Amino acid sequence: MAWLIASRSCVTSSVSGRARQLGSLTAKGVLFTLVFVLAPALAQAAAPQKLAALTFDDGPYGQPTNQILTILKAKQVPAAFFLIGNNAHQHPALVARELAEGHIVENHSLDHAKNLSSLTPAALTKNIQSAEQIIADITGHKPALFRPPYGYTSPKMLATLRKLGYTIVMWNDAPRDYQQTATPDQIVSQVMGELKPTAIIDLHDGRDVKINYPRQNIIAALPKIIDGLRARGYTLVRLDKLLKLKPYLS
Ligand SMILES: [Zn+2]
Repeated sequence: MAWLIASRSCVTSSVSGRARQLGSLTAKGVLFTLVFVLAPALAQAAAPQKLAALTFDDGPYGQPTNQILTILKAKQVPAAFFLIGNNAHQHPALVARELAEGHIVENHSLDHAKNLSSLTPAALTKNIQSAEQIIADITGHKPALFRPPYGYTSPKMLATLRKLGYTIVMWNDAPRDYQQTATPDQIVSQVMGELKPTAIIDLHDGRDVKINYPRQNIIAALPKIIDGLRARGYTLVRLDKLLKLKPYLS
């Protein structure tokens, strides 16, 4: 199974000859270097072709998610949505729309808790499987990909997720659109400024439903991001295709 490792060290050498360093992210002021362990086919494909995958976290989130889906449909961009289970429970029609329009829906925990990496394996398993069940009840599919809320991980957490069959997928281009003060132009220029030849772009269609969190900044930025990527020669592909991974366990 392909696996992604988040490491605090600046690893540049390969892991088992198959690692590809795709970038770094800053989370809570800590620089994480991300090392993606990918299938050899990706390593071959990544060199000449510029590929980008759009990913959206923390939804579904009502009207903002609908607006984002409408933009993606108009621009014919397939994306990956990492869902909060509780949000999916509140907005099953949006999850169904995501699936029907060719996107993949994956697991981003039940409640976006900050302490997932320190939970016991049993408690973490319960959280992850609760979200998984909500998604499976709506879509008929068990997600195969997991994105840790806030990017927080621990060896214990990774071991539990691996046991559950998940592949962890982080990102290498994060324009911090979750900041309410980020303007559309700032978001666009940050995406373009962090671009890698194989880009996994982390955007947000939602947030914890307890927070009043307008998404007008990313909604305004999204068409410009898509057009900007294409103008730079990028092909927008779905995350599972980019990583050569199966999107669902069943
Ligand atoms: Zn999140």
